[in-house]
Amino acid sequence: MKNKTSRRDFLSTGLMLPVVGAGSSLGILNLSAQTPAGSAGSPVKLNYKTLGKTGLKVTTVGMGCMITSDPSVVTRAADLGITYFDTARGYQRGNNERMVGAALGGKRKQVVLSTKTEARDKAGMAKELDTSLSELKTDFVDVWYLHGKSNPSEIHDDMIEALQLAKQQGKARFVGISTHGGQQTLIPWMVQKGVFDVVLSGFNIGTDPAVEQAIDAAAKAGMGVVAMKVMAGGARGQKPGQTLLKTLTWVTNHPSVATAIPSMTDMDQLDENVKAMASVLTAEDHKQLAAHLEMIQADYCRMCGKCEGNCAQGLPVADVLRYVTYADGYGQFALGRERFLQMAGEHVAARCENCPECTVLCPYGVKVQKRMKLAQELFA
Ligand code: SF4
Ligand code: SF4
Repeated sequence: MKNKTSRRDFLSTGLMLPVVGAGSSLGILNLSAQTPAGSAGSPVKLNYKTLGKTGLKVTTVGMGCMITSDPSVVTRAADLGITYFDTARGYQRGNNERMVGAALGGKRKQVVLSTKTEARDKAGMAKELDTSLSELKTDFVDVWYLHGKSNPSEIHDDMIEALQLAKQQGKARFVGISTHGGQQTLIPWMVQKGVFDVVLSGFNIGTDPAVEQAIDAAAKAGMGVVAMKVMAGGARGQKPGQTLLKTLTWVTNHPSVATAIPSMTDMDQLDENVKAMASVLTAEDHKQLAAHLEMIQADYCRMCGKCEGNCAQGLPVADVLRYVTYADGYGQFALGRERFLQMAGEHVAARCENCPECTVLCPYGVKVQKRMKLAQELFA
């Protein structure tokens, strides 16, 4: 709690104002020339950073394609000069890679393209990578991630062998891990292992200070840092063009983050998000972000993992709270339900109403039982 208060105070006074990383550079994007009729715009600066020791040059705003269904949004993002695109074998039941590959088309080699595998053994990973390459219509991906890990115990030696083999075969230029939780343990382990080039981590204004420290140390050690879940709970209570842009700007300006990959589903979101590359935050902006954090604290799970193992019915609390945020924070009900129903059967069937009292106490004030009940009502 001490850390949280300290962080909030820093935010509200602007003392945590991140500065653009030393390796950043600027280019010009003329939105007015490329924006569809009706959306006025003025030249916007593209901002670039280097993705750690990979040496890859990436725009500080990349594109998270997970929930994008319209290929023209991906194509236009590439036309505008966005250079980082992220997908995964499992997104949209395999359809997302196909859409991204088709949308990028001949622009593929002008961008940094990442995908992920959920396979848990060497043979399964190799098979998934071949499928990814085929669907993405490319001979290689720039970054290949192990998908959604939160603990070193989930990563076995043969999985690391599969990553290294992919690099040797030229199918993946660089490798890494994507992670939603447990970063304070996982990321230092990645640094110590020395075989991972990039980490794709949930990171935003509400991130636990211990996770931020782990990310800072990874960046210092030369690991490329890509940030996802950058909107801190999504659009809940936020006004498009105001707090949302500031929330993204806070991440893109963080010195340890090379690129942030907000989800984008339409042209308006794309146009709004690219503005973050040219934005700076004032002291007043920091006050508004701190107020926003206060406003959402009962609903917004930071996925810090501190309550792991505390549920009387053994539920993966942070995961379930993430699924409900997909629905009421990001407007992605189907995705939230899909992930909820992918849990073990006993977790899908569990009901909070069967507990005399909730054993999960969140140090950040999340009303866990209320949010878990909502997930069960919405998805089960
Ligand atoms: S509910 Fe609270 S303690 Fe549990 S993961 Fe979320 S923020 Fe952390
Ligand atoms: S009320 Fe829900 S979240 Fe709390 S301990 Fe029971 S099952 Fe777990």
